[in-house]
Amino acid sequence: MAGKNRPNILFIMSDDHAAHAMSCYGSKINKTPNLDRIANEGIRFNNCFCTNSICAPSRAAILTGTYNHENGVKTLGDNLDGRKPNVQKLLQENGYQTAIIGKWHLGHGGVHDPSGFDYWNVLPDQGDYHDPTMIEMGEQKVYNGYVTDIITDLSLNWLKYRSKDKPFMLMCHHKAPHRPWEPDEKHAHLYETADIPEPETFHDDYSNRSNAAKEATMRVDQDLNKIDLKEDPPENLSAKELKSWKYQRYIKDYLRVVASIDDNIGRMLDYLDEEDLTENTIVVYTSDQGFFLGDHGWYDKRFMYEESLRMPFIVRYPCAIKIGSETDDMALNVDFAETFLDYAGIDVPDFMQGTSLRPLMEGSTHDDWQTSLYYRYWEHLSEPHKVGAHYGVRTTRYKLIHYYGESLGASNTIDESRTPEWELFDLKEDPYEMNNVYHNPDYTGTEKH
Ligand code: CA
Repeated sequence: MAGKNRPNILFIMSDDHAAHAMSCYGSKINKTPNLDRIANEGIRFNNCFCTNSICAPSRAAILTGTYNHENGVKTLGDNLDGRKPNVQKLLQENGYQTAIIGKWHLGHGGVHDPSGFDYWNVLPDQGDYHDPTMIEMGEQKVYNGYVTDIITDLSLNWLKYRSKDKPFMLMCHHKAPHRPWEPDEKHAHLYETADIPEPETFHDDYSNRSNAAKEATMRVDQDLNKIDLKEDPPENLSAKELKSWKYQRYIKDYLRVVASIDDNIGRMLDYLDEEDLTENTIVVYTSDQGFFLGDHGWYDKRFMYEESLRMPFIVRYPCAIKIGSETDDMALNVDFAETFLDYAGIDVPDFMQGTSLRPLMEGSTHDDWQTSLYYRYWEHLSEPHKVGAHYGVRTTRYKLIHYYGESLGASNTIDESRTPEWELFDLKEDPYEMNNVYHNPDYTGTEKH
């Protein structure tokens, strides 16, 4: 095994943080100076994608380096079987100290507790924003305060008291900015007088698209509830004004919750600097999937459309990654595990299905790098969002989606049939995916490429 120079890995993942709410990804609606530090001092992946845009399945893909049909976590109704191998077990067996602090969301009790971790302290299910209960190695405790601060405090505390003779791999998993977007006091009044710009596709009417897009119940104007909005709208608003008012309520809270993440990332980066750990620590920031920030008139995720499919993925490792790098090459959540093993000098087991991203991080591009991805969302019409099950392929230019119209026995689905549908998008001509060209004769045969 490689000597003591093996890198530490600090893997920070938030929940539902879309790349287009980070200034290093060109956000038009907020600034994230501390997250930008990671990107500016390392590399920004412009095309990192999840393989199933929903919490638990993406987390399972990241931990196991496998697609959901292999790891068994196809929907929110499936738990991860902790007896199966995962990247943390491999790191642990090969001399790393491992920990997970924060959101787990892959089941609890017995074989569903986190496995492969020397230390774990996780939120039960979704967890609470304020005064959260957490489960520390099987024991429940209530922590007073705000969840993002607490997860950061616990992470810093673990780093402080870790044994210094081994490299570490810490997964710091924030609950934020998951619905219902409850800010802390410090950020509660941020953006109060601002008018956050509405996205280009805010008034999408879902024409030229599948019925699946029309049927989904995650519309800003119709489906946000009182808990999301936190107050009643002013009276006498027109329908359009009310939709805009709801968007402002939603997006401001979302961005306030993100601001707290950004502050806490700054604390962690400062700690690494103070402890002289910056040089030999790989710092990753990502989110389990993207999110609709009013795009297509929606909140939430699930669809294979870009805003939901794309994950932020920024990495700093001063020893090997050139500052201010970026790559347009394709990366997937199933690639993360193999990347960590590569840097730790551990052989990749046969069951993993990704590719180490190390060549991209270190600027050595391959002509035969992956140029397409496979996606599948199983939760057919599950409440409350009612997004039909679908699978698809995205290449660098095109995206083909098939809504197969059946639950096929998957957990957390509604057993109702829909007429199967196809969508094809030309992402070069139509980056916002407003125009399905599947039946357009100009594109005949494109779906076969
Ligand atoms: Ca999520």
